[in-house]
Parts: sequence; structure tokens; C-alpha cells
Amino acid sequence: MSMKNKLFILGPCSLESFEQISQVANILRKHDVTYIRTQLFKPRTRPESFQGLGVEGLQVLARLRETYSVEKLKFVAEVCSEEQLAAIADDVQVIQIGARNMQNFELLKVIGKYLKKQDFVLLKRGFANTLEEWLASAEYLQRFGVPKNKIVLCERGSRTLTSPTGVHLDFIVAMVAKQSGYQVIIDPSHGTKKREFVLPLAAAALAMNFDGVMIECHPEPAKSVSDAAQAISLEEAEQFLLTRHSSN
Ligand code: PEP
Ligand code: MN
Repeated sequence: MSMKNKLFILGPCSLESFEQISQVANILRKHDVTYIRTQLFKPRTRPESFQGLGVEGLQVLARLRETYSVEKLKFVAEVCSEEQLAAIADDVQVIQIGARNMQNFELLKVIGKYLKKQDFVLLKRGFANTLEEWLASAEYLQRFGVPKNKIVLCERGSRTLTSPTGVHLDFIVAMVAKQSGYQVIIDPSHGTKKREFVLPLAAAALAMNFDGVMIECHPEPAKSVSDAAQAISLEEAEQFLLTRHSSN
């Protein structure tokens, strides 16, 4: 697979405003990237943390659609419940199931029912889940109506005692998942939690022939309302995307 065929998903941790997302979208389109993170619902460790714009964010996405057709820009967003899925299924092109919901079986069972024009479902590995559990969750999706070729697995790291960031990417679990016939991408943002490690590990993932990467970026990384320490700048994102083109 050439670099051009790889799946690149970039964007902020959370959708914050039109101003924020449109700056990201402009950079992605400039470099021919189609998939943008537009997370509306954020499962957060602490209840007082920002929970996402929720359905009000759909107005922001509608404004973005005035500039970018669905062929040019596809929205990627996580859902944590059937209610959230029903609310956004018509407006997002990739449904993400996050690490915390990888074994939310009732959610896995209803995804297929709402899939219409979606390109695929992104299934992240839970940070303590085994290969067998990850693949079993993918099988749940299939049993309830999602074709295998519409499932993309995403490795986002395991919790660990040895890494100073508290997390390490598990390339081995991801490689073995790929051998099971799934498309597998790597998320070096949640997989490292620190911006200086994100692009080196993204490059490693591409060199290892994974099917793509998902990377968090922000116009003002330090001001990101969630996961600020792992957000790269749009300038860094551009540099990375330029390298991708030149190595093609
Ligand atoms: C995300 O990608 O938006 C996210 C919340 O990541 P994870 O589910 O892997 O923690
Ligand atoms: Mn995040």
C-alpha cells in the first residue's frame, strides 16, 4: 500500500468551535487529507471536565459543510451510547468506539443498525484489553450487521508502569490484529500522551506498514480544552503531511 492509500485522520481531541475546526480543516484539505476528528461527545475521567459540545456541535459541523462537501471532508466522531449514535449518525462519516467502550456490548450491538453512509467504524482497543477481547468486540460488530471491511481497528496504547508517560503503544498486538485480516491504524497521540513523541511514533507506524494513523492536532495546542499535552500544532501537522507526500 502506498503512502497515498494510507488512512490519515487528524484533528483536535474535541470539537471546540467553528474557528478551531475550520483552521484544522483548511490545513488538512491543503494536504489532501479527507478524515478530520470532530469529536462531539467526550468520555472524560472526571465529571467536571469538558464533556464536548454535544449535539450543539452539529451546527458547527453544518457550517463546515458549507465549505467542504462530504467527498472532500469526512467527519470522525465517537459515540458512547445509542442515543448519541442516533443523534449524529446522519452527519458523521466515521463512527468511533473509544477505548472505554470497546466492551460496551449493548453499544456494539446497535452500531450496524445506524450505519448508512458511513465509510467505516473505528474500534479502538481498550487500554487493558487483550487481542482476543479486541477481536471479539470486532466480531460483535459483524454479528450485528457491520461488514468486516467496514471495521478499522485502532491501537491506542496500554496502561503501563514502566513508561514515564503511563502508556505505551503495543505494536505487537496491532500487528497480530492485522494478521487476522483487519485494517489497523495507530493512534500515537493517546498512545504516548506527549506531543514530542507523537510524530516519531506515527512515522514508525507507517514504516511498519500499518494502514494509517490518527493524530491529535490543534491551532493552539496548549489551549486545547482536552489532552493539551499531546496535541501537535498545525505547523507540525503540515510538516508531517509534507513528508508523507515526498516519500510517496
Ligand atoms: C479519542 O480518540 O477521542 C479518545 C477518547 O481516545 P481513547 O478512546 O483511545 O482514549
Ligand atoms: Mn484526546
